[in-house]
Amino acid sequence: MSIKQNLNNIKSALPEHVTLVAVSKTKPVSDLMEAYNAGQRVFGENKIQEMVDKHHDMPKDVEWHMIGHVQSNKVKYMAPFVRLIHGVDNFKLLKEINKQAIKHERVIDCLLQIKIASEDSKFGMTPEEASEIIKSDTFSELKNIKVVGLMGMATFTEDENQVKKEFNYLKDTFENLKQINTHNHQLNTVSMGMSGDYLLAIKCGSTMVRVGSSIFGARSYQ
Ligand SMILES: *Cc1c(COP(=O)(O)O)cnc(C)c1O
Repeated sequence: MSIKQNLNNIKSALPEHVTLVAVSKTKPVSDLMEAYNAGQRVFGENKIQEMVDKHHDMPKDVEWHMIGHVQSNKVKYMAPFVRLIHGVDNFKLLKEINKQAIKHERVIDCLLQIKIASEDSKFGMTPEEASEIIKSDTFSELKNIKVVGLMGMATFTEDENQVKKEFNYLKDTFENLKQINTHNHQLNTVSMGMSGDYLLAIKCGSTMVRVGSSIFGARSYQ
């Protein structure tokens, strides 16, 4: 099936309140343009340099989401244009994003990544760490970032019950942290669900799904 057909199939299954991030990592701009011409405007990449290059090549009304692990020293390259950073997993990174956002007179929206998987390989903080950061005085001084939600990646497993448990855990954490409302912390986004589990994620309360291979086909890493 074509990228356009894949997109239309997925979109027809999404409730209106759920945003589709088309994860285009490793894919050529021609594939992204196919999705763009089918109406897709939100794209997710996991490497900053690749996102910068594609931002340069693509129409300027695309919304770029950084969904990968972010190294502090590379934030400056995406600071002029990135719309949402999903994988913020420490306070030092928030401070760096704030610093770079000031240079471009912007406020950059961020999601805190919560570790919900049992696998060691996945990044993220605990709900307690997130809550501690949000309540700190140094956090309230960051005027050029806004934490608008949480992101999580479930364990890579066939066990649907386990995945469901992890998604529910993220949703519960979201409902708890949502009680804290400040100038730079207003939660409205739960980013969870990928090609294999986005329908389950939506049932568990996801408002943003990150779908790659079901749109663009399998990735090949050389
Ligand atoms: C690659 C990636 C996705 C998309 O994965 P698919 O299984 O291809 O849909 C979603 N989220 C993150 C963080 C990713 O790195």
